[in-house]
Amino acid sequence: MSERVKDLVCGMEFDREKAKAVFCYRGKSYYFCSPGCEEKFKKEPDRYLPGRS
Ligand SMILES: [Zn+2]
Repeated sequence: MSERVKDLVCGMEFDREKAKAVFCYRGKSYYFCSPGCEEKFKKEPDRYLPGRS
């Protein structure tokens, strides 16, 4: 059974095993549909993270 993950940059949902890029930030892994989305996330992670206080 594969886990569903969400690309926080473009909002796409997909199976974790189909992710094209993974980026670890503050101890969590984030999955992306493409290296381009990963690049955007890397530049401004806080912009894409939900529920920041
Ligand atoms: Zn994406």
